[in-house]
Amino acid sequence: MPPHPRRRRLRRLTFLVLCCLIAGLTVCAGAALLMVNQHARQLARPNTHSELWQAYQLHAELERSLETAQAVLDERADSDALATRIEVLASLLPPLRTTSVFSHLAEPRPEIDETLNRLERISGDWLKRAPWGQPAAARNIAEEMLRQLPLLLKPTHEIIVATHIAQTNMLDDERQDLQHAFVLLAWVLAGLGICCVLLTLRVIANSRRKLLLTQRLNDLNQSLERRVEQRTQELTERKALLRYILDTSPSDVALLNDRDSHAHYVSPRLLQRTGADDESFNLTRLFNDPDEESRFLQALDEFGRLDGWETRLAGDPPYWAVVWARRLNVEGQPASLVWSFDINQRKAIEQELRLLATTDPLTGLQNRHAFVKRGVSLLKSAQRYHRQCSALMLDIDHFKRINDTHGHAFGDAVLKAVAAELSQGLREVDLLGRLGGEEFAAILPETDPQQALQVAERLRTAVQSLIFTGEDGSRLDLTLSIGVAERRPGEVRLEDLLARADRALYRAKAGGRNRTEQAPS
Ligand code: GH3
Ligand code: MG
Ligand code: MG
Repeated sequence: MPPHPRRRRLRRLTFLVLCCLIAGLTVCAGAALLMVNQHARQLARPNTHSELWQAYQLHAELERSLETAQAVLDERADSDALATRIEVLASLLPPLRTTSVFSHLAEPRPEIDETLNRLERISGDWLKRAPWGQPAAARNIAEEMLRQLPLLLKPTHEIIVATHIAQTNMLDDERQDLQHAFVLLAWVLAGLGICCVLLTLRVIANSRRKLLLTQRLNDLNQSLERRVEQRTQELTERKALLRYILDTSPSDVALLNDRDSHAHYVSPRLLQRTGADDESFNLTRLFNDPDEESRFLQALDEFGRLDGWETRLAGDPPYWAVVWARRLNVEGQPASLVWSFDINQRKAIEQELRLLATTDPLTGLQNRHAFVKRGVSLLKSAQRYHRQCSALMLDIDHFKRINDTHGHAFGDAVLKAVAAELSQGLREVDLLGRLGGEEFAAILPETDPQQALQVAERLRTAVQSLIFTGEDGSRLDLTLSIGVAERRPGEVRLEDLLARADRALYRAKAGGRNRTEQAPS
């Protein structure tokens, strides 16, 4: 889990403070080192703290000058030796006059300055009268020396002592300064060390946290990779399962890209039916009729879906199928999912059932039910377009006798032959049906009574001229009685028309059979 933003800010601030401290302490350490270096250089200066030696030299020189002065007076030394002493004495004074060592005395000692002034004055005076090669002058100066210098021996000794004390004090001060500088340096270095340790700890903590975070990130990555792998595996398995389900489904499925008609998936059976492969399959290959394809696309565009659409699909041979379709988005592109179910067998059964339901099995003519249904519609059509229309009722004469004489099977054969003859004698547009037994009926659209009578007569004579021979070789005479009726204006009830035709038929029977009777209009 990432640290809280406040803690992160605090850490950053600590880091910044430590860096600033280290920078400040480094500057302080530099300054302290500079100070120490300066002190050391001061201490290392040549002739540093030679004041004591100079004071001692001064005192010794006074004694040597006294000795030389006495020797000049005793004529044991010449004037040049005294002049040399005077020059040495004068040269020893300036360093002591300019030194600051006496400022380190606990109390000011004005007598030192007085002694030195006095010595400077008299040595200056003797220097002006330097007795180089002048014995007389040398004797004078020697006498002055013997008079004045003994008085200065003690003060110069005092100067030695004072110098010693002052120098000791000064060295103490310098040592203390040096020690202070060292102490400061030590503190600064200690601080620097502490800060460096803290910074190092900070850096170690940071790197440990970084390591932990990296490790956690790695763990997360690995778990993510594992999950992705697992999901990929699951997806692959599901895809394979889905493909298996689709491949073995009784429906044929195709998923097509709408832009380029590229097939994402096509059932193997559909490929087999259409003779296409994955690459070449498209909607045009699916539909038998190009018009059907454009109707399909139009409906799909309009509603985005299509349900239970019965059509004929391409195949060898083409087959009836019920088709469903959906508009989808696949990989960000519009696509159509189309699945179809082969209903060829169902269609064949339906057709057979329809045939069975509407056809008389013996003669192949329309049965009563189909005849009535179709007849009603013909009548309505005639009424709508104000057309004439006629009906015929046809009945085989004494058919019972045929059955009785030649058997039922023979009777059936006769029925079939009569039906065929009647069919042949009528137009395509005419409706012929077997109403039952040996009784037939026909509706003749666009036919006036006269024409209907002619047709009836033609049919009657055609049937009469049929030749049937019984098993015993005897010839069978077969005749028809026919009743004709015309549709009255405004008449739409088929049963009325047929009833009138039937009454005419009754009259034909009653009139001796093998004849045609027309119903009154
Ligand atoms: P009519 O001249 O008065 O019409 O006399 P008909 O004998 O033709 O009429 P009827 O009504 O007396 O007899 C009809 C006969 O038709 C009775 C029946 O056995 C026979 N029949 C009905 N349906 C079939 C069939 O499908 N096959 C055969 N072979 N005979 C049938
Ligand atoms: Mg009959
Ligand atoms: Mg009958």
